[in-house]
Amino acid sequence: MRFPGHPPSLAGNSRQRTPRPQQLCVSAGTASAPSDIVEPVATSSASEADILAVGRDLAAALPGASRNPLKAIDDKAMDLASQDAEMRAALFRFVDVVPACRSLDDLARHLSGFLEEVGDRPPSLQVAMRMSESKAGRQALGAAAAAGVKHMAHRFIVGETPREATGVLEDLWRKGVATSVDLLGEATVTTAEADRYAVRCAEALDGLVDVYRSLPERPALEADSAGRIPRENLSVKVSALTPLLRADAPELGKRDAAVRLRDLLRRARELDAHLHIDMESFDSREAVTDLVLELLSEDEFREGPSAGLVLQAYLRDSPELCERIVTWAQATPRGYPLLVRLVKGAYWDHEIVEARQHGWQSPVFEVKADSDRNFEALTRRLLEARPAVRVAIASHNLRSIAHALAANRAMGGDDGDVEVQVLRGLGDDLQAALAKRGLRVRTYCPVGDLVAGMAYLVRRLLENTSNESFLHEQAAGRSLDDLLAAP
Ligand SMILES: Cc1cc2nc3c(=O)[nH]c(=O)nc-3n(C[C@H](O)[C@H](O)[C@H](O)COP(=O)(O)OP(=O)(O)OC[C@H]3O[C@@H](n4cnc5c(N)ncnc54)[C@H](O)[C@@H]3O)c2cc1C
Repeated sequence: MRFPGHPPSLAGNSRQRTPRPQQLCVSAGTASAPSDIVEPVATSSASEADILAVGRDLAAALPGASRNPLKAIDDKAMDLASQDAEMRAALFRFVDVVPACRSLDDLARHLSGFLEEVGDRPPSLQVAMRMSESKAGRQALGAAAAAGVKHMAHRFIVGETPREATGVLEDLWRKGVATSVDLLGEATVTTAEADRYAVRCAEALDGLVDVYRSLPERPALEADSAGRIPRENLSVKVSALTPLLRADAPELGKRDAAVRLRDLLRRARELDAHLHIDMESFDSREAVTDLVLELLSEDEFREGPSAGLVLQAYLRDSPELCERIVTWAQATPRGYPLLVRLVKGAYWDHEIVEARQHGWQSPVFEVKADSDRNFEALTRRLLEARPAVRVAIASHNLRSIAHALAANRAMGGDDGDVEVQVLRGLGDDLQAALAKRGLRVRTYCPVGDLVAGMAYLVRRLLENTSNESFLHEQAAGRSLDDLLAAP
């Protein structure tokens, strides 16, 4: 199985990619391309004072400062990983092999093997290395390491099966939080795997109806000015719906995935549930976007189901894609407006390394502030495109969220017409603050076992150990004013 978004040095890079026109040749190792943000056509913007006020108000609603999300998940490993590149690589290599290890002894041997590659080991790791020299020590070390990885994974994954996740989903709803369930599993390599994933998705849709049927009303989560918002919401990945998704033959992957995705859209329509199609790495971006827009253009899906796709603001050409999506939505009236989930993008390291390997200009911005500024420009463009689209702002960055809420108000929009989305385990405090302020918040809840969740877990670890991430800066104690400053 290949894991998109994996540190490429660990996972290798099996997909071929044909350079696109925008992938201009640059010399390998080019540090940073100049900022080339094309401002989409958007007119209204909020003042910095308004953005600050919204940000401060949300910050005031955060649960106690002691519950900082990074500290909660680190178990020391996170701190170590963010300080030292060799340690980071060792940790990721280890997390990667955990599901394949057959015994505690095996696990301990792998751990000590990876740690051997770390030059400057802190005392705690020296102890771990010494433990791995005896059989009894390896048992203890293996058990501690396995528990540590499981503990980290369970911060992000709500259950091994949808049934196991029921309690969490119910609890969130009662607290004023909607969810999108994601069945872990991506980049399938056989037709049987793709079929199995599609069946699991259909079963999950049925299961979600059972979960949400008897829960109390939550008006803020169930409707906006465009109408009803389904309670049941499932996120799916196209790479899990076909083994044929390849950049060099996009039509083949699209055709194969379309059969399974069409069935899922039908099931979602019958159940009146929402189906969201996640976005993955750049090499499948066009195929996924085309597939979603083509299927949703079919007559049978005009009235439903509620459905959506993802726009990644870290992509240099995302303003053009945004225009394409808006134009499509305006020309294709639907019973439920297309929901656009705006994200920065989860495959940044992967895209950078892959582009450098090929000597291409990376398709993603290389300066964090460029992604942040583009995110804000796209936010405004999408908000202005309503009612043809619904907008979901998926971020843990208080500034990005405050900007969206303030921009919406500046346009005369109702707070209920913006949805904020967070990831389970990373956005828990933010989710509580948003719900406390009566805003619509949806938490993305992955479900599945550790093996299927490894790619997901590694992406979350990569994000959290990046010195440039908002959560990292927040955990490092940056002042609120700094955190809310314009990018
Ligand atoms: C509910 C939900 C659903 C999501 N679904 C998807 C999805 O379908 N597809 C997907 O790709 N992602 C998805 N994501 C992940 C998202 O793309 C981000 O990776 C994540 O939310 C971190 O961004 P942030 O705004 O929270 O944090 P921030 O810390 O503000 O931003 C971090 C992001 O900035 C970008 N970045 C980091 N360093 C640099 C740099 N040097 N130059 C330029 N840009 C940089 C990267 O995109 C990185 O993830 C989802 C996130 C959420 C909350």
